[in-house]
Amino acid sequence: MMIYDVAIIGAGVVGAMVARELTRQGQSVILLEKASDVATGASRANSGIVHAGFDAKENSLKAKFNVAGANMMASLCREMGVAYVQNGSLVVGFDQEDQQTLEGLLKRGVENGVTGLALLSGDEVRALEPSLSEDVTCALLAPTGGIVCPYELTIAAVGVAMYNGAELKTNFAVSSITEEGGVWHLSNGEETVCATYVVNCAGTHSDDIARMIGDDRITITPRRGEYILLDRACEGLVSRTIFMAPGKMGKGVLVSPTCHGNIIVGPTAVNMEEKDNTSTTAEGLAEVRRLAQKSVKDIPFGRGITIFCGIRAVGNTGDFIIECPRPRFVHCAGIESPGLSASPAIALYVAQLLQKEGAVLSIRADFDPHYTPAVHFRHLSDEEKNDIIARDPRYGRVICRCETVTEGEIVQTLHQLPIPRDLDALKRRTRCGMGRCQGGFCTPYVTEIMARELGVDELSLTKSGGDSPLLLAATKTAKGGTK
Ligand SMILES: Cc1cc2nc3c(=O)[nH]c(=O)nc-3n(C[C@H](O)[C@H](O)[C@H](O)COP(=O)(O)OP(=O)(O)OC[C@H]3O[C@@H](n4cnc5c(N)ncnc54)[C@H](O)[C@@H]3O)c2cc1C
Repeated sequence: MMIYDVAIIGAGVVGAMVARELTRQGQSVILLEKASDVATGASRANSGIVHAGFDAKENSLKAKFNVAGANMMASLCREMGVAYVQNGSLVVGFDQEDQQTLEGLLKRGVENGVTGLALLSGDEVRALEPSLSEDVTCALLAPTGGIVCPYELTIAAVGVAMYNGAELKTNFAVSSITEEGGVWHLSNGEETVCATYVVNCAGTHSDDIARMIGDDRITITPRRGEYILLDRACEGLVSRTIFMAPGKMGKGVLVSPTCHGNIIVGPTAVNMEEKDNTSTTAEGLAEVRRLAQKSVKDIPFGRGITIFCGIRAVGNTGDFIIECPRPRFVHCAGIESPGLSASPAIALYVAQLLQKEGAVLSIRADFDPHYTPAVHFRHLSDEEKNDIIARDPRYGRVICRCETVTEGEIVQTLHQLPIPRDLDALKRRTRCGMGRCQGGFCTPYVTEIMARELGVDELSLTKSGGDSPLLLAATKTAKGGTK
C-alpha cells in the first residue's frame, strides 16, 4: 500500500494552503475531504476580508499569523490568478466609548506590526466614504486591509498542489485513525489511506478528528454567521470594508465590496449545536439589516440577490490551536476569523512543526507556484474578446447572461484541477449562476455542457454532491414516453 508523506484532513483554505506548502517542500501529499469539492466549509461562506491585523490579541497565534498571512496574500493571489484587492478597511464608531475602543485597536494594531493605521473624525471618514451614516463620529483607517475571493483562493491552492503532484480524494470522510509501526492509517470505513504525518484541518470537525486519536482537550463550538449579498448594480456604495466598533452590540456587522463587484453585508454571530447546518433565519437576516444601516445609510436591500450562512469553528482556547498532540500529527483547530487571512502563514508554521517531528523538507526547484484559472471573458478587452472567439467560437456563446460566462470558460474549467463535479463546484470556479437570476436561466445549459465534458449522464449530476440531484428524469420518460 502506498504510504504518503503527509495526509491532510479537510480541503478548506487551511488544508489547501498546507497542501500547497508541503508539496512545495517536497512532500508527497494526499488531501482527504468529506465533501464532493474543496472549499465547501467556512472557506466558502465568509466575509472574504484580508484583515489588517489590529483585532487579534497581542502575541496570540491569531495576531502573528494574521499579519504575516496578510503580507503574503497579494503576491500569492497574483501567482495563482485569484481575485484580491487591497481596498483598505474602516472601523467606525458612534460615541466616546467607541472612540476609546478604536484607540485601543490602534495601539494593538501597532503592537501587532500593522502599518498605516490612523484615527479619523466623522467628517474626515465621510469625506472618504460618503455613504456612511451621519451617526458615525470616529473611525480607524487600516489601509493594508484587503478583500479576496475565499473559494477561488482555496481552489487555486489545491490546484497548485495537485499540478505539483498532490492527490485529492473527495467524498472521503475520515471516520477512524490508527497508528501502526510509525504509520498513520486513516479510514472512511471502506478505504484506508496511509501516511507518515497527518495534519488535521477539519474546521468545525477538528475536535472530532482529535478524539479519533484519543485527544479530547479540544472543543469546537459552531457559530453561525448570516449574510445578504447585493447585486453588482450596487457597486460603489462603499469602496472600503466598513466594520463597526466592537462593543455594546457585539462585533456588529460589516458592509464591504467583494472582489467581484457585489456588496456583502453581515455576518451575525450566534452559537449553535449543529456543525453543518448552513440554513439562514429570518431573525438573523433582520439583524443584519438593522445593524448595517447604523453605519451605512440607504443600503439598497431590495437589490439583494442571495443570502447565505457560514459556520465559524470557535475553539476553547480563544486562539488558533496549532500543535502536535502526538508524534507526527498536527492539529490546525479552532481556525476561526482571521483564519482566511492567516492561512498562508499557518501553512509555513505547519511545515516547521512537521520538520521538528522529523519530516525532511526542502524547497523543490521544479515547483510551479502558478495557477491559471479559465479566462474570464467579461474582463477581456473587445480586441481580446474578438481574438479568443476567432480561436475558439465557444467563447462567443454566452451561457450565464448575468455574469457573462461563456461556454469556452466552462469547458476550460471542467478540465482543470481540481475538477468540478457538481453544479456548485462549477459555479465557484466560473461564477455561472452567481448573478442576479442565480442560475434560473443558465442551469439547463450548464448541466448539458457538464454532462458532455465529464462524460456522465445528465441525470447523475448533483447540485452539491451527496443527495442533491438536479434532475429526476427526462420529461417524456417521466410521463411514460422515451427520452
Ligand atoms: C461567517 C464567517 C466569516 C468569516 N470572515 C472571515 C474574514 O473576513 N477574514 C478571515 O480571515 N477569516 C474569516 N473567517 C474565518 C475563515 O473563514 C476560516 O478561518 C477559514 O475558512 C477556516 O478554514 P479551514 O480550512 O480551517 O476550515 P473549513 O473551510 O471549514 O474546511 C474544513 C474542511 O474539513 C472538511 N472535513 C471535516 N471533517 C472531515 C472529515 N472527517 N474527513 C474529511 N474532511 C473533513 C470539511 O468538509 C471542510 O471542507 C470567517 C468565518 C466565518 C464562518
